[in-house]
Amino acid sequence: MHELAVTEQVLTIALRHAAAAQATKITHIHLVVGRLSSIVDDSVQFYWHLIAAGTIAEEAVLSFERRPAQMRCLACAAHFTLADQRDFTCPACGSPDIIVIGGDELLLDSMEIETGAPADPPALPAVGAPEME
Ligand SMILES: [Zn+2]
Repeated sequence: MHELAVTEQVLTIALRHAAAAQATKITHIHLVVGRLSSIVDDSVQFYWHLIAAGTIAEEAVLSFERRPAQMRCLACAAHFTLADQRDFTCPACGSPDIIVIGGDELLLDSMEIETGAPADPPALPAVGAPEME
């Protein structure tokens, strides 16, 4: 499954960063997902519970932010974001010869951790996660 491999990658990266920061717990992970990605949020969350069990990321809340796809026109070389996913033509010249150059990936954007040392300032400001559907 695609999501399983991606989720494993995210966990590996998260744990590596957490170890470097001497975290005792990962509480929140912010992921950025390209709009064209086939990643299903619920699947990632599902796999997370399986593969993160027993790690400090076990109880981490995952939040997903969708970002528009970055496109490039092969006819006129214009770069643009894909605003309407039913309209696969270049807004500059109208050519249908456009390619995806970004926005089909899943990235670990940031995460919140606990270090077990109350004197330490948090690594990231506490921000409310947007409600995801
Ligand atoms: Zn064009």
